[in-house]
Amino acid sequence: MKIVLATSNQGKVKEFRAWMSECEVVSFSDVMSSFEIEENGTTFKENALIKARAVFDRLEDKSSIVLSDDSGISVPLLGGIPGIYSARYAGVKASAKDNLYKLIDTLKEKGVEKTPAFYTAAIGIVCAKGEFCVHGWMHGEAIAQARGENGFGYDPMFMPLGYTKTLGELDESVKKAFSHRACALNLARILLKSLK
Ligand code: IMP
Repeated sequence: MKIVLATSNQGKVKEFRAWMSECEVVSFSDVMSSFEIEENGTTFKENALIKARAVFDRLEDKSSIVLSDDSGISVPLLGGIPGIYSARYAGVKASAKDNLYKLIDTLKEKGVEKTPAFYTAAIGIVCAKGEFCVHGWMHGEAIAQARGENGFGYDPMFMPLGYTKTLGELDESVKKAFSHRACALNLARILLKSLK
């Protein structure tokens, strides 16, 4: 089974490849000229499917399966933000650190030291048989400080449920075992078997 990922982010490509070693996994930019995908959906699911559909429409080999990932962190106390805007919370050109510190500053402005938060991952799957989407979540707490260097994005301020350390401080095996993306990937694997 050939999987085309609707991302040219080498980190995500590596993660997906490790997870599906039995499949040939390539980035869309390996099989077509690269193009910008406008993520103008209002949910993680819509954005994941927009990305996967855009790549599938341009594929010559329609026997391939396109997979995409759209993810982010939501803080209910703040009305669910940054949510689908996680990657551009501090602006379209913002770095991961800018986004992290903007969320920390927002919590500090509210006088909050820690508050419930959760990560969502939506994996879009588009192939000749149709369009599908699976989700995974990781619940925990967002704290108003950055601790640790592991992971990426908002991980230094996120403590998973049952832990007193952030994902920045915890071993990466914790994330591999039960992160939002790991949960969604496990479901995607089941779905993919039925699409063979
Ligand atoms: P996407 O690449 O458009 O799906 O944006 C995902 C954004 O959500 C990333 O840039 C991060 O800011 C955030 N995010 C998603 N998953 C994680 C995670 O596992 N750890 C930390 N931040 C994450």
